[in-house]
Amino acid sequence: MIPSGIFTKYFEACDEFISNDYIGKNCTSVNETRIDCTNCSENTLDGSVTFTNMCPYCNGNSYLINSVSQNFKLRVYNSPKNWIKVGNVESVPGRIQVIGLLTDKDKLIQSTYILIYTNIDLYLKYKLASEVFPHGFENRYFICYLDRCSI
Ligand SMILES: [Zn+2]
Repeated sequence: MIPSGIFTKYFEACDEFISNDYIGKNCTSVNETRIDCTNCSENTLDGSVTFTNMCPYCNGNSYLINSVSQNFKLRVYNSPKNWIKVGNVESVPGRIQVIGLLTDKDKLIQSTYILIYTNIDLYLKYKLASEVFPHGFENRYFICYLDRCSI
């Protein structure tokens, strides 16, 4: 019988690898969705009013981008040499392996892109490149792969 306190210590140690500022990287998941431009629809409801110029709210796109950002932390492995063998995922230039807390999984799955901060003001933009694999004791964590994409 293993005392439960040992598992608690184990979790604290592993969580520390992600939440510690020197090891876990600050990340932002950004979920962008298109919403109809209400200014456009108000002005075209009865078909009588059209813009003489482009709609100033959406620049004539008829939609606006609604952006939801959420901050979380990831452990980042840039070098494929350090990757944990999970999933049948090739190493290609710009691909990284990340480990996070399972409670943050949806932030990645629902994201349009992910920003990973290398410094306070410097960040790199990534997109999800694989399934999200459960990882660790009682699947407390996940592992997945991200690909660099242009800003
Ligand atoms: Zn508009």
